[in-house]
Amino acid sequence: MTLAAGKKLGPIPKGFGAANGVLMIAGHKATDLVERAGDTPLFVYSGGMLRARVAELRAAMPARLAVHYAIKANPFAPLLAAMAELVDGFDIASAGELAMAQAAGMAPTRISFAGPGKRDRELSAAITAGITLNCESEAEVARALAIGDALGIVPRLAIRVNPGFDLKGSGMKMGGGAKPFGLDAERVPSLARRIVAAGAEWRGFHIYAGSQSLDTQAIIAAQAQSVALAVSLAGEAGVALPHCNLGGGFGIPYFAGDEPLDIARIGAALGEALDALSAECADTRFCVELGRYLVGEAGIYLTRIIERKISHGAVFLITDGGLHHQLAATGNFGSVMRRNYPVAIATHYGAEAVEEANIAGCLCTPLDRLAERGGFPHAEAGDLVAVFCAGAYGASASPAAFLGHGPAAEMLI
Ligand SMILES: *Cc1c(COP(=O)(O)O)cnc(C)c1O
Repeated sequence: MTLAAGKKLGPIPKGFGAANGVLMIAGHKATDLVERAGDTPLFVYSGGMLRARVAELRAAMPARLAVHYAIKANPFAPLLAAMAELVDGFDIASAGELAMAQAAGMAPTRISFAGPGKRDRELSAAITAGITLNCESEAEVARALAIGDALGIVPRLAIRVNPGFDLKGSGMKMGGGAKPFGLDAERVPSLARRIVAAGAEWRGFHIYAGSQSLDTQAIIAAQAQSVALAVSLAGEAGVALPHCNLGGGFGIPYFAGDEPLDIARIGAALGEALDALSAECADTRFCVELGRYLVGEAGIYLTRIIERKISHGAVFLITDGGLHHQLAATGNFGSVMRRNYPVAIATHYGAEAVEEANIAGCLCTPLDRLAERGGFPHAEAGDLVAVFCAGAYGASASPAAFLGHGPAAEMLI
């Protein structure tokens, strides 16, 4: 059987079932959801799965750890409103995201803003709103102080540290060595003193070492290093440590062979690290800021097969969706090598794989592949394809304007 030579599909997250061969999403048939939306392609996000994920994380983490959501992973307004009720804060990266965070009902004191190129008008909007700026350079601090003076508002300033370590096994490294993000650790103490001396509200440190790591031990190590670095920088500067954002980096399994993180172990180790801190840090508020870990597995992308065609003996299932909504699933968003995401035929869900097929998007580019040589049940025009792990960096991080098909519908259930 040729199937053995095919490429493996990624692992489908827990919590999905079938009714009469149709994929069930949070108690709804995929076909009914498409009917409700009126068209494909469609992103469906499960509010129940978001709640379960946050609850599971909180149960594993030390009680004093706050959980923030990095909204760039998925800024769909109804999802943001749901997340605002579930997490302790939002992390934003632009004035546009500030407006979204405020519209979702998140209190400004619970919003922090990181990003290496903040414009003056963004600093101004942030200071006016009363959110925390995670400043990425001496120059940004100087601009924020001047803008605060001009507005007559005391800015709330933290320093984003470029740590001397990175997150091992991380998909996108954000620390260690020369980086556009944050301020090199050795220059942090003098800038912290300058912020305090200028009379700004001192908000501590933001240390973000990387993203999409599935290495439990590496996350434990990076968190321990981040806690130690924050404490030592505050000590060296002779300033308090009111707040410390430990970043995130928690990954989710996308590909065959990926194993989920052991968050119980991460939480226990972080609890020990925080318990071991001296009395000076008794009131320090620690947080993690997570994007994909909170929302990635709660999203599914549904697209309809327009045509089944054969080319040189290979089966191509051509869909009405593709790379313009699913850049990451096609292997074009920070991947070194194209591997298959978890993908299934939603209208023959759970049926045995009988053929090797390629699932191609509708864009006129060879990059547009949702699955390559995967094992699938027989599917025809009209069948629905489900791409799992579509809740993060799908709609918001794909080139929806490319080739003019436009954005996909989105739905929170
Ligand atoms: C992107 C980003 C995040 C979220 O990353 P995930 O991999 O989605 O968890 C958090 N914080 C900062 C500063 C980021 O740039």
